[in-house]
Amino acid sequence: MKTQLVMAALLFAGGVAAAQPKVIAHRGYWTAPGSAQNSLSSFAKADSVGVYGSEIDVWLTADDRLIVNHDRVYKGTDIDMEKATAREIMQIVLPNGTENIPSLDAYLELVASKPATRLILEMKSLSDLNREDLAAEKIARALRKHGVLERTDIIAFSINACLAFKKLLPETKIYYLNGDLPPKSIKKLGLAGIDYSVKTLQEHPQWVKQAHDLGLEVNVWTVDSEEEMKYFIDLGVDYITTDYPERLQALLEQ
Ligand code: MG
Repeated sequence: MKTQLVMAALLFAGGVAAAQPKVIAHRGYWTAPGSAQNSLSSFAKADSVGVYGSEIDVWLTADDRLIVNHDRVYKGTDIDMEKATAREIMQIVLPNGTENIPSLDAYLELVASKPATRLILEMKSLSDLNREDLAAEKIARALRKHGVLERTDIIAFSINACLAFKKLLPETKIYYLNGDLPPKSIKKLGLAGIDYSVKTLQEHPQWVKQAHDLGLEVNVWTVDSEEEMKYFIDLGVDYITTDYPERLQALLEQ
């Protein structure tokens, strides 16, 4: 009996110790050699170091195709992701010199081949709500087509996009990025949690416990220094999104 109690206590302690934040590579593992933000190789490199998840940014092009890139206007060009066609956008060569901006289709094909890594898919806010609804429908269809829906979490700054996804994908976890709503509002909207900036969560550290008490999860971006990593590990967030996943992994192993 005594042994059983000790065993139970050890298991419980183990469970608590295991509740460390999970590592998410921001825009993929793009700081690795030969990589680039939102590239196919950034997902492969994130997968190769054993992160929990790898994040991407998705736009709907002028011809209603889905592509993977962060900025609205690609640096050094006048190509606007919503005003250009997918063909024009996918001609852009990424800074690693070996890849172009990928279609979401190509990206999901790669994700499907790397089952150990979750996809954290950010849908960018678009110029009107109807286009956001269309993009959400197309993303949902693409995730199903590639068989990666169960391994995907959705994030968005737009409440409209979050609610569109919730309707389309009721089983999928959806997190709000914009930082202006407290956990109780997120709970009312039926979302899985908050995914807020370093600045927002440093201003409202109490939101972490409030979220947990409501059964919500907390992700924080973009945490790159060891000092900030330690701060958020101690604060007890569930996920940390970083440009330096191996730095965070090393810290978590200490
Ligand atoms: Mg993003």
